[in-house]
Amino acid sequence: MFGPMMDEIADRFNQAASVARQNGFDFDYAGHPDAPGGVSIQSCADGRIAASASTSQVRISDGLLLLLAGSAEVRIATGGSGDEFNAKLDALIKTILEGSHDRSDPELSGDAMYLASSAVAFVVYHELGHTQMARLTAEAGDQTSVEMKADIFAVHAMKETGYDMSGVDLVFDALQRAVPSGSMNHPSTTERAEIALRAGRGETLDGFME
Ligand SMILES: [Zn+2]
Repeated sequence: MFGPMMDEIADRFNQAASVARQNGFDFDYAGHPDAPGGVSIQSCADGRIAASASTSQVRISDGLLLLLAGSAEVRIATGGSGDEFNAKLDALIKTILEGSHDRSDPELSGDAMYLASSAVAFVVYHELGHTQMARLTAEAGDQTSVEMKADIFAVHAMKETGYDMSGVDLVFDALQRAVPSGSMNHPSTTERAEIALRAGRGETLDGFME
């Protein structure tokens, strides 16, 4: 499931990138490391909940992919709020953090797959935001504003590629539960969620892609 999902996320990004290139924006192609300026997208066998970017590579751990897919399944099954939702999601996160979760490729219902695709697209495009910014601006600015710019880049990319925004909230909620203290250098998930929401509504945000 994750292979085809990631391929589609990369394909849609590349279609948007080729339009952007025609309009004079110099975008890297994703998932095509052999293309000029290509960035490879890889999922790695890593139980931790992590994603990272270098100038030529985006990596997502399968711990994070399983967290997002499992969260999508729980949301769809329980309606996304209430005691059952909280209990099931917390139980899922506990098994992932302990490393005792099922590592096989999950089979999701159509609705859960749609939601999971949106969540994974947000994470992949956030990391691609880092690869683009690293080349365009040498990641100038403090790390907090770089992270926010990567979030805003991701939301814009989701709009351009036709993913809906339902997965953005899922990502922040899942990360907030799994890593309550936040990761080093990343602003608080609450702060990030608010900025992403504003960008999703089409508000102009200073500093995007400058
Ligand atoms: Zn980041």
